[in-house]
Amino acid sequence: MIVANGVHKRYGDLEVLRGIDLTVERGEVACLIGPSGSGKSTFLRCVNRLERIEGGKLTVDGELMGYKTKRGRLHELREREIAAQRAQIGMVFQHFHLFAHMTALENVIEAPIRVRKLKRADAVARGSELLARVGLEDKLDSYPAQLSGGQQQRVAIARALAMEPKLMLFDEPTSALDPETVGEVLDVMRALAADGMTMLVVTHEMGFAREVAGTVVFMDEGRVIESGPPEEVLEHPAHPRTREFLARVL
Ligand code: ATP
Ligand code: MG
Repeated sequence: MIVANGVHKRYGDLEVLRGIDLTVERGEVACLIGPSGSGKSTFLRCVNRLERIEGGKLTVDGELMGYKTKRGRLHELREREIAAQRAQIGMVFQHFHLFAHMTALENVIEAPIRVRKLKRADAVARGSELLARVGLEDKLDSYPAQLSGGQQQRVAIARALAMEPKLMLFDEPTSALDPETVGEVLDVMRALAADGMTMLVVTHEMGFAREVAGTVVFMDEGRVIESGPPEEVLEHPAHPRTREFLARVL
């Protein structure tokens, strides 16, 4: 689903991604771990084209992100075409970014109505279903300020799912939550994984990674240092930098 080959990204003089190679298969859950500043969020933002890459190749579901080939030559897509690519990828952030003046249900149905031109009644039916799926059937009419962090994050997940994405990106979805609400968000993500959703998850939740991830990818200083099944990378890391990082977080 995601294939990255030698992906480079810089901010001015700062080389943030220095040749990322990474593959996430359809239906797979990959967890991205690594120290602060190693480029995890930047990589996620490149995957859904919130950032433009400066070198290498990045495809999602076989489509080159941000480009198309015409008569064998690469052409950069227009903003609208990029938006269409991005609409197929769900993203969930550390801070939920819900619309504060909209109820949970309104947050979930906004994009399907505006972007996908769904009829309101259909969007409401589907949105209510999605909110029930994340355990919030009794919170449809609540505003974000009336919800706990864990509930807000579950609304954010339902909102992303409402666009029927083929891929979900999560950037530290539980890092801003009170400890007692982390579990309910991880449960929703676990269920999503069991349903076969392809997921790339930046997380410090090593328990989740160990249990749910097919692949754990360890990044440091803009490079993939090692990747493999959790029992390898987390239990028997090959690289000293991975060992050092895990000793700090576990
Ligand atoms: P964390 O675990 O703290 O979230 P991260 O692995 O997600 O870290 P990134 O946010 O991808 O790291 O940042 C990688 C590097 O790129 C950092 O040095 C950061 O300061 C820099 N950086 C990120 N975004 C920008 C930007 N818009 N402009 C300039 N530098 C940036
Ligand atoms: Mg980050």
